[in-house]
Amino acid sequence: MQAQTTVLVAGGGPAGSMTAALLARESVSVTLVEKDAFPRYHIGESLLTSALTMMDFAGVLERVATEGFVKKYGGFFRIKQGEVPGHIDFTTSKPYRHSYQVVRSRFDEILFEHAGACGADIWDRTAVTGVTFRDDRPVAARLRGPDGAEQEIAFDFLIDATGQTGLLSAHHFRDRRAEPAFANVAVGGYFRGARPYCDVHGTEHPGAFSMEALTDGSGWTWAIPLHDGRLSVGVVLHRDAYQQRRRAGESVEAVFTEALGTSPDVTRLIRDARRDGPVRVWRDYSYFAGTYAGPGYRLAGDAAGFIDPLFSTGVHMAFLGALSSAATVCSELRGEADPDTAESFHHRFLSQAYARLAITVAGFYRQLRNQHDVVLPGVSGENLQLAFDLIQPIVSGDLDLGSDTLDEDTIHRAMRYTTDMMLEAHEVQTQNRVAKFMAGMDDERMAGRFAAIDGRYIRMKRGRLGIARFNRLDAAFMATRRQVIRRITAARR
Ligand SMILES: Cc1cc2nc3c(=O)[nH]c(=O)nc-3n(C[C@H](O)[C@H](O)[C@H](O)COP(=O)(O)OP(=O)(O)OC[C@H]3O[C@@H](n4cnc5c(N)ncnc54)[C@H](O)[C@@H]3O)c2cc1C
Repeated sequence: MQAQTTVLVAGGGPAGSMTAALLARESVSVTLVEKDAFPRYHIGESLLTSALTMMDFAGVLERVATEGFVKKYGGFFRIKQGEVPGHIDFTTSKPYRHSYQVVRSRFDEILFEHAGACGADIWDRTAVTGVTFRDDRPVAARLRGPDGAEQEIAFDFLIDATGQTGLLSAHHFRDRRAEPAFANVAVGGYFRGARPYCDVHGTEHPGAFSMEALTDGSGWTWAIPLHDGRLSVGVVLHRDAYQQRRRAGESVEAVFTEALGTSPDVTRLIRDARRDGPVRVWRDYSYFAGTYAGPGYRLAGDAAGFIDPLFSTGVHMAFLGALSSAATVCSELRGEADPDTAESFHHRFLSQAYARLAITVAGFYRQLRNQHDVVLPGVSGENLQLAFDLIQPIVSGDLDLGSDTLDEDTIHRAMRYTTDMMLEAHEVQTQNRVAKFMAGMDDERMAGRFAAIDGRYIRMKRGRLGIARFNRLDAAFMATRRQVIRRITAARR
């Protein structure tokens, strides 16, 4: 390995591999290190449509498409027992009408290798064991390779994509804050021989993603069919409920089985199925770092923050953090943006996206915790689906990526609904975050389709990836484009 690189990316999950691929495609010298050997197990199997936009931009979509992963056409969300499940329907999304449910060990390996194919210097079984700072800026890292040998590598930029490990925020700055609104524990495992999901009309949907609120409101389950014939099943419980059962002497296995028993849909899916492999537990997984960027560094993916997986947004946020990290670093390197502007963009861009998701998830958590009444704003049992239709641009990830196929009305209705939920969901604590969210809304109103920050947006053009000023010409072009989209949409209706 070279002793010097322009960008060191720590962590070879989706955030790290995507950042490294994007930078390498912009001809930036980049070194990517991952502490584990591939293939390695990881949770996070259900993707959003925005992942396809990102993978297409990074040039890896065709490769992923050949792997045979289950196509995800949306999902069924039984957020309240006794009501028809809400349906997120990706077949109405644009530009991609489906996403994937992936076996992460394969998916992550493909992304890691792709970073190498793009020109990044990739090393697995190589851990970052320490970071050296000069003033406030990280300038070098200590690495430990597969044979235990240590070496130092100097760099201009460090991207922390170390996931929950949180190299910078959890270990160096110690500014990671748990989000108490989602103080949950997840327990999950795999089944073979499960039945396909069946909707209320009795139609089978093989391969469909589904979630269901537990009958007692103490949590929810996920069921994700995978292409290797397994069904990934998990239950998310409030930490107190989980700990209470464990203290009462219940094994993790017993907690899992008992909780699944209060999920009628999952009970039906796994009636004749057999378990495959161990039960796993994930604890304390909703948190945010104090800052997502600083002099010479960016945080991306779980290293920056993580929100409860209710809407399967983890990999989306990992890719979004990768995109913003790569774009802001490229602009800084080219001298298009000064360091303060680039850092502030990355921090605010991610804050806005995390805030919007946290508020949306908190709004739906209020509903799943309350199994007696419909408490989502503006809907009743009869039109619960409306809430899912309104949040679709958010929980497909398309809004964050500024999909140019979303019309203005759809964007505004989604934003307004999120605001309504925010006003009701007092659980999302920090006033600060709410203020940032509102500021973000103004920016977005200005920019229309782009998630813009301080008049800048991410220019997703190969060879010119960066943060660009949003000028009047762009605005006029965008306005015309939106008008055309609106007319076409109206004509189709
Ligand atoms: C219960 C549960 C269910 C979930 N379900 C979904 C879902 O359905 N869909 C979804 O999109 N997301 C889901 N997620 C979230 C998803 O798992 C993560 O958001 C996603 O993996 C984040 O990617 P990442 O690249 O940031 O981190 P990771 O994928 O965790 O990658 C980080 C990498 O960094 C490496 N690393 C750590 N420390 C070092 C070091 N010092 N040096 C070098 N390498 C290091 C690690 O080995 C790891 O490979 C779920 C999460 C949980 C807890």
